[in-house]
Amino acid sequence: SHDNPMTPADQAPLLQITDLEVAFRSSTGLVPAVRGANLTLYPGQSVAIVGESGSGKSTLLHLISGIDVPDSGSVVYGSDRGDVEVSALSARERTGIRRRHLGFVFQRDMLLPDLTAGENVALSCLLDGMTKKEALKVAMDRLTSVGLSAYSGQRPGELSGGEAQRVAIARATATDPQIIFADEPTASLDSLTAEAVVEELLQATTEQGRTLIMVTHDPAVASRCNHVAEIHDARIQGRPSQR
Ligand code: ADP
Ligand code: MG
Repeated sequence: SHDNPMTPADQAPLLQITDLEVAFRSSTGLVPAVRGANLTLYPGQSVAIVGESGSGKSTLLHLISGIDVPDSGSVVYGSDRGDVEVSALSARERTGIRRRHLGFVFQRDMLLPDLTAGENVALSCLLDGMTKKEALKVAMDRLTSVGLSAYSGQRPGELSGGEAQRVAIARATATDPQIIFADEPTASLDSLTAEAVVEELLQATTEQGRTLIMVTHDPAVASRCNHVAEIHDARIQGRPSQR
């Protein structure tokens, strides 16, 4: 786009997914959950992954983020220290990458109910190694940037669905990750609130040079991303197209 002087041709890919496959063992045999996913993403790009329930969307996010490892295929992160093949790393190393470089937003706010909004955001900073003082300062900054500075002392049960998702966005971005994964982040919201939350999510990610990988059922939400990848029957159909 004209806003971004760096075109993909000038940049190294941030993420390269090649022929990714995984199957789960069930009582009736092997159930393929992802069959042959391919995707290349550059810094600041966004992709919406759409498809019916059970088509493998969450599984794909787990593979890309190193929560699960594939049966075959590869997930390669480009870093300033060279390419990293995620499935070649130990579980401990993958957890380290998730804490430092990745952020997550889920459908139902997976906020800890007994912590305040500020403490929920600060917790991911503490896990990333910040001091308590730094963590609380970053948490306040992040809550302010999503318009919730007045809510830092509220507990999740005292927030609306949209507010809770904005806290989740603040938390996901507090450690300054390169990639944000969002699994149906607007699924439990009405359409007007969904629109506002997606706007907030894009502001906190692609507009800051971060990459966004979002699962969604909502075509209006998907259309806000640079690419739309459709999954049918565990397969990504066609190639994602540049907006
Ligand atoms: P979606 O997010 O698109 O609704 P999922 O990725 O959650 O789909 O699931 C894809 C398929 O893999 C489904 O058939 C689901 O039952 C199966 N599946 C997902 N996770 C597991 C697991 N941990 N063990 C066994 N089967 C699983
Ligand atoms: Mg899912």
